[in-house]
Amino acid sequence: MSTIFSQIVAGDIPARVVYEDETTFAFLDANPLAPGHTLVIPRDEYERLNDVPDDVAADLYATIHRLVPVVEDAVDADATTVAFNNGEAAGQEVPHVHCHIVPRFDGDGGGPIHAVAGETPDLEDDELDEIAAAIDERV
Ligand code: 5GP
Repeated sequence: MSTIFSQIVAGDIPARVVYEDETTFAFLDANPLAPGHTLVIPRDEYERLNDVPDDVAADLYATIHRLVPVVEDAVDADATTVAFNNGEAAGQEVPHVHCHIVPRFDGDGGGPIHAVAGETPDLEDDELDEIAAAIDERV
C-alpha cells in the first residue's frame, strides 16, 4: 500500500505542489505550523533517512537547499526551522521521508530545535568519549 505522500506524487490526492523534479517533490503541509510550511520528499517511498540511497539523499538536500530561501522570501519569514522527524519515536507519522521547512518569525512564540528532546541527560566525560568513539568507528 502506498503512503499518502506517494498518492500526492501520483496526483491521486490533491496538494499545493510548489516544486517537482525527477527525484524530489515539495508541497504545502495540510496542517501548517506557520504560513508557508512546506514538505520536501523523495518521489520514491523510503521510510527513514537511513533507507534513502546516497544519490537520492543528495538530490533531496539540493531541493531543500533551493527551497529554504524561496519559502522564506515567499512568506517574508525571518528564519526557518528545517527538520525531519526520523522514526516513530521522533514523532514521524507518515512513513515516507519528509523534510519540514517551517517558516519562523521574530516573536512567533515557537521554540528552537533544542526544545524537541524530553529530559536532557547529564553525561560524564567518559560517557561522551565512548559515544563519540562508537559513532566514529561506525562511519
Ligand atoms: P510527521 O509527523 O510525519 O513528521 O509529519 C507529517 C506531516 O504531514 C504533518 O505535518 C501533516 O500535517 C502532513 N500531512 C499529513 N497528511 C497530509 C496530506 O494528505 N496532505 C498534506 N499536504 N500534508 C499532510
